[in-house]
Amino acid sequence: MTQVQLPPAADQRSARDGAPLRARQLLKLRRQLLYLQNHSPVYRPLLERAGLSWRTLDDVEELRRLPLTTFEDLRARQLAAPSPDAAASGVSIAAVPTPLPTGDLTTCPAERVRRIYPAPLPAGGSCFFGVSDRDLSLWVRLAREALLDRGMRQGERVLHLALSRHAALDAALLALEEIGAVGILANLEEMSSLVEEGRLDAVCAPVSCAMQVEEALRSCEVKRGGARLARYYVGDLGDPAAWPGEDEPWGSKERRDQAAKRADTAGHAGAALLVGVPGIAPVLLASCPNHAGFHEDAGEYCFSEIINPESGEALPWQDGSRGELVLTPLERECTPLLRLRTGVVVQLHTGPCACGRSSVRLAPADVS
Ligand SMILES: [Zn+2]
Repeated sequence: MTQVQLPPAADQRSARDGAPLRARQLLKLRRQLLYLQNHSPVYRPLLERAGLSWRTLDDVEELRRLPLTTFEDLRARQLAAPSPDAAASGVSIAAVPTPLPTGDLTTCPAERVRRIYPAPLPAGGSCFFGVSDRDLSLWVRLAREALLDRGMRQGERVLHLALSRHAALDAALLALEEIGAVGILANLEEMSSLVEEGRLDAVCAPVSCAMQVEEALRSCEVKRGGARLARYYVGDLGDPAAWPGEDEPWGSKERRDQAAKRADTAGHAGAALLVGVPGIAPVLLASCPNHAGFHEDAGEYCFSEIINPESGEALPWQDGSRGELVLTPLERECTPLLRLRTGVVVQLHTGPCACGRSSVRLAPADVS
């Protein structure tokens, strides 16, 4: 495999707009393109056709010359990825490695693939994304920074409600251990007992269980004088528990009221809601403590765009832009992706936030 040579440090051109974040994104994107040019049978020809190269890339916006990708496209590619043919190659079946579910999207040697996570598709089936140790380390760092920023502290007793395997739950557990909190892996019933006994400081749970957790906590917290535990909910950007449903999401007052109620329960009533996107990262956005949408805290590691969901046309990245979120992770070793459509419509807010954070915010279009 070709030895990767990293491009030089950001030069004056990359900083000409005075935007340090953009300059850091450009440096990371150039590294990622170099890596793809050397290692990806999927993206190398796409980059060539678009005339994109790490050597000449001058602006992250040039990514828009590449076609968009959907989860369904990736699934189709993984199904079509060639399997080793023992008979044709003349070797014994035992000598042929079992193909990875990630197919030819895999860009690192199989021995560096540490975990593979599914992303279920609305029409059924799943596509798969892998992480190397380096990828996992970045994911955990993003989760750790978000949890620290939203209040988790060393020594806290945190119930980790892992009802299923999920990248965000894995990352949150590893992150809280790195913070120095104590992860208590227990179920809802055990949670209630521990709260009543005064043995818990916080709960970390999937956002899809937020309603159940809030309900269970309300009754047992009353018994301990109404003091509230910290709650950290993690989940996917497209999870209806985190965002309103897919059918006419923002079209009616009833829908908006439902959305506001869900947000109040899951993310804004003193709880932190951390959401990611399968295949990109388990934690990319974190709810604003001032109820002003979700801060994009991981901007340095992921390039975001907004497009017209019907035409696919790129929309300006400016205050008030509304459209489907498209993401490109800038540091991936195992299954890199370029311009993945999330299927989620958001509105961008770039102005100052009352909570003091400087990152941009993404919010449901009519509810910010
Ligand atoms: Zn804020």
